[in-house]
Amino acid sequence: MREMDIATQNNANQKGKDMTLTKSTLTGRCRCGQVRFEISAPPLLTAACHCAGCQSMSSSAFSLTAMIPGDAFRVTQGDPVIGGLHGPQQHHYFCPNCMTWMFTRIDGFDAFVNVRPTLLENNQWSTPFIETMTSNKLPWVQTPAHHRYDEFPSIDDLQHLMVEFAAAHD
Ligand SMILES: [Zn+2]
Ligand SMILES: [Zn+2]
Repeated sequence: MREMDIATQNNANQKGKDMTLTKSTLTGRCRCGQVRFEISAPPLLTAACHCAGCQSMSSSAFSLTAMIPGDAFRVTQGDPVIGGLHGPQQHHYFCPNCMTWMFTRIDGFDAFVNVRPTLLENNQWSTPFIETMTSNKLPWVQTPAHHRYDEFPSIDDLQHLMVEFAAAHD
């Protein structure tokens, strides 16, 4: 009985923690602080991407993404500029001063903005739920992602993943 109480309490604490982290307004900024943004709804999914483009733009082993509902993402200061591959389908936004890669918009997926969660003031929750393009992963890299894709998940997969992600953070 006592053990059950503790288990229940731990579970409640864990749930409470997730809710606080993902359901409050989140604020973020680039390296120099000229561009700032806020997020007013919970992320729909988090991911690490090992593709060559993400490796180039992050100058690192992989990029981190939080998929945010488009109408819940707002630039509150500064004028981000296009960088990386200049379209045609993907639009990567950078700070014009410090050149931090901040977020990405994809044509045809206007309901989402892919934000780099490392830039959030509170970024401790941003564990990647999935990882993509593992076919291009550096051999020493390991992430705690729950799902792995050699390439990218299909739209169907994405829908299922978002349901699962929401349930895990509810
Ligand atoms: Zn900057
Ligand atoms: Zn990528």
